[in-house]
Amino acid sequence: MSSLRFKVVDEAFNRKADPVEIPAERPEKYYGKYVFNRQRMFEYLPADTFEALINAIDNKEPLPRNVADSVAEGMKQWAIDNGARHYSHWFQPLTETTAEKHDAFIEHDGKGGVIERFNGKLLVQQEPDASSFPNGGIRNTFEARGYSAWDISSPAFILDNTLCIPTIFISYTGESLDYKTPLLRALNSVDKAATAVARYFDPEVKHVRSYLGWEQEYFLVDESLYSARPDLMLTGRTLMGHESAKNQQLEDHYFGAIPSRVEAFMLDLEIECHKLGIPAKTRHNEVAPNQFELAPIFEETNLANDHNLLLMSLIGEVARRHHFRVLLHEKPFAGINGSGKHNNWSLGTDRGVLLFSPGKTAKDNLQFITFTVNVMAAVHRHNALLKASIMSATNAHRLGANEAPPAIISIFTGSQLAEILERIATSSNEQLTDIATHEGMQLNVSQIPEIMLDNTDRNRTSPFAFTGNRFEFRAVGSTANCASAMIALNAVVAEQLMRFHAAVERRRAAGEELRHALLEEIRALIVESAPIHFDGNGYSDEWREEAARRGLDCETSTPLIFDAYLRPATVDMFRTTGVMTEVELAARNEVKWEMYTKKVQIEARVLGDLALNHILPVAVRYQSVLLDNVTKLSALYPMEKVREMAAGELGTIENISEHTRIIKSQVECMVDARREANRIESERAKAIAYHDNVVPCMDVIRYHIDKLELMVDNEMWPLPKYRELLFIR
Ligand code: ADP
Ligand code: MG
Repeated sequence: MSSLRFKVVDEAFNRKADPVEIPAERPEKYYGKYVFNRQRMFEYLPADTFEALINAIDNKEPLPRNVADSVAEGMKQWAIDNGARHYSHWFQPLTETTAEKHDAFIEHDGKGGVIERFNGKLLVQQEPDASSFPNGGIRNTFEARGYSAWDISSPAFILDNTLCIPTIFISYTGESLDYKTPLLRALNSVDKAATAVARYFDPEVKHVRSYLGWEQEYFLVDESLYSARPDLMLTGRTLMGHESAKNQQLEDHYFGAIPSRVEAFMLDLEIECHKLGIPAKTRHNEVAPNQFELAPIFEETNLANDHNLLLMSLIGEVARRHHFRVLLHEKPFAGINGSGKHNNWSLGTDRGVLLFSPGKTAKDNLQFITFTVNVMAAVHRHNALLKASIMSATNAHRLGANEAPPAIISIFTGSQLAEILERIATSSNEQLTDIATHEGMQLNVSQIPEIMLDNTDRNRTSPFAFTGNRFEFRAVGSTANCASAMIALNAVVAEQLMRFHAAVERRRAAGEELRHALLEEIRALIVESAPIHFDGNGYSDEWREEAARRGLDCETSTPLIFDAYLRPATVDMFRTTGVMTEVELAARNEVKWEMYTKKVQIEARVLGDLALNHILPVAVRYQSVLLDNVTKLSALYPMEKVREMAAGELGTIENISEHTRIIKSQVECMVDARREANRIESERAKAIAYHDNVVPCMDVIRYHIDKLELMVDNEMWPLPKYRELLFIR
């Protein structure tokens, strides 16, 4: 009866790997082919233009207008030589995807024909009519203009025959309407603050850069199966589906052999990444069936983030070529692992030193301890904000379930770093000086490189882990724009380093020696931030209680978690670091609440439709088959005998009635709850109403549908089941 389901399962089952066009050359030849990088700039720009542009990029200076004209000319020529016909400002509105509006290069030539033109003005700044992007009330409708402006620190690239120019996006009144603007401000701020502190150890340091290495997790589903699941198509996740008898319990997928269809797709994707200058390096199967990961070599944070956004659009395109659909959703399937996007993050000086990397000398190690302890203090003070920075309607399904971090931010240090911190906290400066000057003593600050053995940890329940030379922010969701987490993290660390620098300077002004002042402040920070340190099991109930006792933020309701953005300490932090104003923060929260509401609203509608139009009719049809059987039996046998013979059927008939009755009434409840929530004016209160009153109905509906899936004749069930969706052959 459910012929569609069997047809699509059959199609998916029989699909073979698609061929991949493998370039004849090695990657080093085609790497960055579609990027206007320094090599291309050198080739296509006049010498003085090239120099002026590089100078502006390296020293973060504005680009003179006449230089911009010359850059535009060279960039256009390069783009045309590579088949481009259009150009587009490419920006990151608050929707968690990228936006682009394409314009052809053509203009009238005055003789009835056209000529291809591009100038500095078009390159540097545009005014997209931006009234349809989320702005949280910053722009009045009568002043709908937004400006996009070229971010010269991220190179232009060609995607689908369009020259894409990475830009920031701001309102007419100067407030940011995107992720890139505050990210650049946060990176600037952490550069300044970290440079001041790094100069205690090396006076030659001029800049400190922030680095990001993301690990993108995703699921693949065959396109035929996908097309038979309206929930996947419209919401990115399955709103129903009983667990498959086999899923990840045998742990046979993680790092397992990659199926040939998937391998072809991955190769294709990597080639595309490399052409676009995305240094894709690692690929492997993830824990859940049909779950995979792609990770590049880490890059400067702003560029790495642009590359992640580009990857997220590229991956969908390449998947289609291979008859797959990519699911970037944090929790496409209940009961098995969800997808995250670990943000490996570090700071490094322009002198080539990674600041979270233990060094060879006592001085290097004091620097390592200084920066590490400051990160811990910053994460401790702003743990609620960091959680808010990774929270969303979709990530809420992942946190706290199946190997994902819990919804409490803590830091995993590993036992070795923990011991060193403990040692510093409990020793006097004299003892430490002593230790530092005697060789061969264990747990000596100068001996850190010798004992740093367990660099990586496999404690996946930790949302924020020290992993040898970097921190890994693991709570970030797979659909997220990493900028959200990176804005918060870099800004809180900048604020903390500013405080630290000021405190050390006060001590020095009072006549203390630098080393003494540093150690005093470090010791105070270790003690102050101790509550954020937790190496244990983040899933345990004890941890939840313990975390609350320690004063860490334990809120689990997404709309309430967003409140952290508007707390006085947060507003103050973003103001002193120059990253965001209170007006911007308030506007962004409006957008967050609105997005939350809309996502739940769409899911609730899809679930209601599926329940009423797909599931209930089938359940009732199956119930009548059973009833029919019982009726026929009763024509032949006495009622008592029938009760005995058809005991199972009769039970199922009643169970179906019970489940369908509950589903129907819960759908009504859900619709009422939605109607009531929609009448609420405030975005915050509306989001809370959706969270408190709509989501619980959805959970109940799903529970009963999944029960029906186990009862109803397999032949009749209309939607591809988990066991069919999750195993690519
Ligand atoms: P794992 O799965 O063990 O965490 P992966 O190799 O999958 O490790 O990912 C590690 C990621 O961290 C890569 O993207 C890598 O480039 C990045 N990375 C390594 N060192 C640093 C660093 N110092 N700063 C930022 N990212 C880093
Ligand atoms: Mg990792």
